[in-house]
Amino acid sequence: MSIVTYIGMGSNLGDSAQILKEAVAQLATLGTVSVSRLYQSPPMGPQDQPNYHNAVARLVTDLEPLLLLDELQRFELESGRVRLRHWGERTLDLDILLYGEKNIINDRLTVPHIGILERDFVVIPLLDLDAELQINGIALHSLDLVQQSTLTVLEGSSWAQH
Ligand code: ATP
Ligand code: MG
Ligand code: MG
Repeated sequence: MSIVTYIGMGSNLGDSAQILKEAVAQLATLGTVSVSRLYQSPPMGPQDQPNYHNAVARLVTDLEPLLLLDELQRFELESGRVRLRHWGERTLDLDILLYGEKNIINDRLTVPHIGILERDFVVIPLLDLDAELQINGIALHSLDLVQQSTLTVLEGSSWAQH
């Protein structure tokens, strides 16, 4: 059965815009994809790393959650991702933000994603895709961080098309 999922995407090593474009093309092999605008954001965690490129993809897919995570982790590795330090620099991060209305907690997966309501670089792109989106009854557009955004818009929502 097709489920609406939202995938958070980030990159701050290599040609981040190109890496995120390729990630969108890979996501499109798993179902029907649309994307938010493309943003730049300051790093979370260690501050001695480059700014991030961030976006969110809406993916309608038949894949079960753990199989979807397997695919996302394969895409991360194919981008050349290596683990350096917690919340450190990476070529590609793909996180499952939402999987339908499902709440999932197991060893490999927490959905909704743990930091979702505290991170402007996921909330604001999510609002591009659905301005009325709610998580556990909380309307994202009402969150304070929307007004106090640290993001810069790099490109409109056609950035991944060419
Ligand atoms: P954060 O999860 O705080 O954004 P991160 O994305 O840098 O940090 P990773 O190194 O990409 O963390 O992933 C660490 C582990 O997080 C993965 O091996 C995965 O099993 C687990 N994980 C738990 N919930 C999720 C989720 N919703 N999406 C992706 N990975 C998840
Ligand atoms: Mg992450
Ligand atoms: Mg991750």
